[in-house]
Amino acid sequence: ESFHDVDMGEIIMGNINLSRYTRPTPVQKYAIPIIKAKRDLMACAQTGSGKTAAFLLPVLSQIYGDGPGEALQATKASAQENGKYVRRKQFPLSLVLAPTRELALQIYDEARKFAYRSRVRPCVVYGGADIGQQIRDLERGCHLLVATPGRLVDMMERGKIGMDYCKYLVLDEADRMLDMGFEPQIRRIVEQDTMPPKGARQTMMFSATFPKEIQILARDFLEEYIFLAV
Ligand code: AMP
Repeated sequence: ESFHDVDMGEIIMGNINLSRYTRPTPVQKYAIPIIKAKRDLMACAQTGSGKTAAFLLPVLSQIYGDGPGEALQATKASAQENGKYVRRKQFPLSLVLAPTRELALQIYDEARKFAYRSRVRPCVVYGGADIGQQIRDLERGCHLLVATPGRLVDMMERGKIGMDYCKYLVLDEADRMLDMGFEPQIRRIVEQDTMPPKGARQTMMFSATFPKEIQILARDFLEEYIFLAV
C-alpha cells in the first residue's frame, strides 16, 4: 500500500513525498482510484480519516492533467478598462464546499501544500472576514476554490465567480452543512444554469453520516455514483 499505486503525476507525487505522508489512510486508498477513474462518489468518512487528501490529491492531479496550459489559462475573464487590463471574474475548475471557516482554511492549507509548483492556484473564501481582500486574492487567479456556501453565493452575486468551467465539485462534511441550514445556498450554487450538469462534471460528496437528507442530495447531485463507507 503506497501512494505510488496510482499515478498522479510527477509534481503531485513529489508534493506527497514532501508532506511526509508515507501510507494512504483507508479512505485515501479506496477513494483516490475511484476519483481518478472519473466516477462520482458518495463517501462516508469521519474527520481525521484523511478525507481531505483523499479528494484533493486526485482532483489536483486531474486539473493539472487536463492541461497545464490551456485549461489553466481559459479560466479567467478579463476586460479592458481605461486602457488597463483588469481581471474581473474567475472561473475555477474545481469547487470544494465546506461548512465552516476553520474547515475551509484547513482544506485550503492542504491544497496549497499539494499544489506546490503545479501552477494550480487554490483560493479560499468564507464568511465573517473582509470580502474586499478575498476578492483581490481571487483576482490573482483561481483554479481550485474552497468556499463556505453563504460567502460563495455573495461572490457569485457580485459577479466575481462563475461556475461555467467547474468540472470537479466536492461537498465536504455534507451532513454538517445541512445541519447548519446551508441547503438553500448549496442548491443555489449547484443547480444554477451555468454549473455543468451532473454527468458533465464529476461530483464527490463526503459525509460522516448518511441520513435521508444526504441520500436525497446524493440522488440529486451525483450520477451513477459509487458508495464508499470506511
Ligand atoms: P483529515 O481527515 O483530512 O482532516 O486529516 C486528518 C489529519 O491527518 C490531518 O492533519 C492530515 O494532515 C493527516 N493525514 C492525512 N492523510 C495522512 C497520511 N496518509 N499520512 C499521514 N497523515 C495524514
